Amino acid sequence: MTTQQKVNLLGLSRPQMEEFFLEMGEKKFRAQQILKWIHHHQADSFEQMTDVGKALRQKLSEVAEIRGPDVAHESISRDGTRKWVFELSGGGSVETVFIPDGRRGTLCVSSQVGCAVDCSFCSTGKQGFQRDMTSAEIIGQVWQASRAFGPRRNLGEHPITNVVMMGMGEPMLNYDNVLTAMRIMKDDLGYGIGKKRITLSTSGHIPRMDQLSQDLDVSLAVSLHAPNDELRNELVPLNRKYPLKELMAACKRYSDNITHRHKTITMEYVMLRDVNDKPEHARQLVKLLNGIPVKVNLIPFNPFPHAGYERSRKSDILEFHKYLNDNGLLTTVRTTRGDDIDAACGQLVGQVQDRTRRSERWKQSIFHRSEQTDNNTAQAQ
Ligand code: SAH
Ligand code: SF4
Repeated sequence: MTTQQKVNLLGLSRPQMEEFFLEMGEKKFRAQQILKWIHHHQADSFEQMTDVGKALRQKLSEVAEIRGPDVAHESISRDGTRKWVFELSGGGSVETVFIPDGRRGTLCVSSQVGCAVDCSFCSTGKQGFQRDMTSAEIIGQVWQASRAFGPRRNLGEHPITNVVMMGMGEPMLNYDNVLTAMRIMKDDLGYGIGKKRITLSTSGHIPRMDQLSQDLDVSLAVSLHAPNDELRNELVPLNRKYPLKELMAACKRYSDNITHRHKTITMEYVMLRDVNDKPEHARQLVKLLNGIPVKVNLIPFNPFPHAGYERSRKSDILEFHKYLNDNGLLTTVRTTRGDDIDAACGQLVGQVQDRTRRSERWKQSIFHRSEQTDNNTAQAQ
């Protein structure tokens, strides 16, 4: 049997792992043993699994594997932010970022190679869409980052306390694989990360927001970026399909459906100089968000070559922030982390390239971007 035909156990949630063992004619409890070996003990081979009999280890190595994404490059920022470029066995590469902040450690995880949504201010979008990541590739980022911090003694000591699905890709357009990976993040036999500490960020795919509220209790962030349809159509093209009025109603439904007390949805708002940062935008935003339990996170735009946008002036960000807070919207400004290693929001492109080669690639990609967007957006809806 070739390696490609083997089942990658890294990407199986507990029920899937149980099914796998039952189909092999083994007992269900094996699933728990193996999950612990993979995610708690960070094992990458069956040889290490000392409480599993030799015969079963042999059988497993014939039909299954534990294969994470390969680390192609790792960088550490002045501020302690770490970034990994992962080379995927299924093709392409993605980036994953770890942001330490006191006792909290947030891992920003990618879900697709590239992205079809093509937001006008996002470097991942400029790259076009290549493919969906498998569940093993998605959870494999958590697994590899966790291995980079050394052996885990227990869940509480783990440096990864939070996960945000805010890396490359639109998680709702790779829904099933993202869901499986998030189930493993939450599972005590996986990473034991609580529902409030896992956040899925979406550019606003309404049907999948409704679906998620039925399937799994996690926190939601919505990439809003504009307070009216005209501007949002330009910045986030998915808005043409799912406009603001419907999006706001979906946010309200999501918030009503989730069970934990912390029902707040985070609204992300990138601050683009002279584009969406004027007092009139702040006024419209207050009106738009009226009656929905939200907190607003203002993200100073992170530039990249040929972006065509600039970061808002500091004074404009402060004024915008003050207006929202004064008008009853709990608002924070996101500190930019890891920008010296291109690890800040929207700077992720999954390439180990120098800046010049990167910008050449961007120029080229602009031409085939629109076709891909049409295909993939259509496919995903
Ligand atoms: N596709 C999802 C999640 C990944 S993007 C989404 O769009 O929500 C994560 C966040 O980074 C989003 O809010 C996105 O709009 C923001 N972002 C993208 N490009 C950015 C840039 N250049 N500067 C600042 N934030 C950016
Ligand atoms: Fe895709 Fe999110 Fe970037 Fe938009 S902001 S192009 S949805 S990754």
